[in-house]
Amino acid sequence: MPMKSFQCQFCGQVVFFENSQCLRCSSLLGYVPEAFEMTALEPLGDMTYRALCNQAIYRLCKNTTDWHSCNWLVPVESDEEYCPSCALNETIPDLQDPDNLTYWYTLEQGKRRLIYSLMRMGLPVEGRKVREDGLAFEFLRNDPSSKVEVKTGHYNGLITVDVAEADDLERERTRLHLNEVYRSVLGHFRHESGHYYWWRLVHDKPALKRFRNLFGDESADYEASVAEYYVSGPRENWQRSFVSAYASSHPWEDWAECWSHYLTIIDALETAQAFGVEISAEHTQPLFTRADSYRARTFDEMLDQWLPLTYAINSINRSGGNQDLYPFILPGPAIAKLRFVHDVVKDYRDEASRRI
Ligand SMILES: [Zn+2]
Ligand SMILES: [Zn+2]
Ligand SMILES: [Zn+2]
Repeated sequence: MPMKSFQCQFCGQVVFFENSQCLRCSSLLGYVPEAFEMTALEPLGDMTYRALCNQAIYRLCKNTTDWHSCNWLVPVESDEEYCPSCALNETIPDLQDPDNLTYWYTLEQGKRRLIYSLMRMGLPVEGRKVREDGLAFEFLRNDPSSKVEVKTGHYNGLITVDVAEADDLERERTRLHLNEVYRSVLGHFRHESGHYYWWRLVHDKPALKRFRNLFGDESADYEASVAEYYVSGPRENWQRSFVSAYASSHPWEDWAECWSHYLTIIDALETAQAFGVEISAEHTQPLFTRADSYRARTFDEMLDQWLPLTYAINSINRSGGNQDLYPFILPGPAIAKLRFVHDVVKDYRDEASRRI
């Protein structure tokens, strides 16, 4: 599970964020987005269910009843047929193709983790019914007969994901071709959401000045910079200032990469804390005494926990013959950029709470 640890309220079995049925007692499970809780469900007939976590009554998301592709719940009194994650879909792949159905499940799973994080961070997760440049998703598949190539990206709130990214073989091929150390469906969602929140939280805000000091001038020709990256490779010595090679292509990409890392860090820390993981740096004092990485006051208090955790978990992954959970080294300037991401999110949240 990401995040918090969840249990089936009927039998106590540990359940995961992705589960829709308890593996021990077979009761139906669902996720209550507004409560950040997984819950066992008691069927009440008439397609409604009582959630054992809070006794409220819910319906299943329409994508659960139609396709079993979701496990989030919708309050019975809501006018929405879809949960807050599925409601953001603008285009999904053609599900008559069985491959697309499998890929779509994978995409939705990644998307729900992203939406969980955004909601936990206290950020606005508003669809296009709420505002014109609200968040929306389209999952498109490349058509060999078409001249237009589908590219994963973001424009004005609309996040496009190439369905091929959910095909393990294709994604791994692309990763090797681009010489990347990490490529994942969840990583794409996190990265693209970074572009959106840059527009919401930075571009016309006082934070822009600090952004430019740290990341450089984003008015540099974006298309040309990214094209240049794919032709000539990353900037020389990128390791000294960037979280990844791709981050060196343009300040917007640098920001999106940092945003993605930031989300990885707070989510993984929350999971570790939920399981009571404690890492002692040089066997001095145990870390992870502070709760809730989503509400940390400073980035540095998280970094103090994050680095020893990655050393431990990367080593455990290697013991299992797997790749590192976090195959990155953070140079000083990259840490300063992550700190900026943290401050921007915290400032938004502080301002929003003052408005209430
Ligand atoms: Zn159970
Ligand atoms: Zn849903
Ligand atoms: Zn990008």
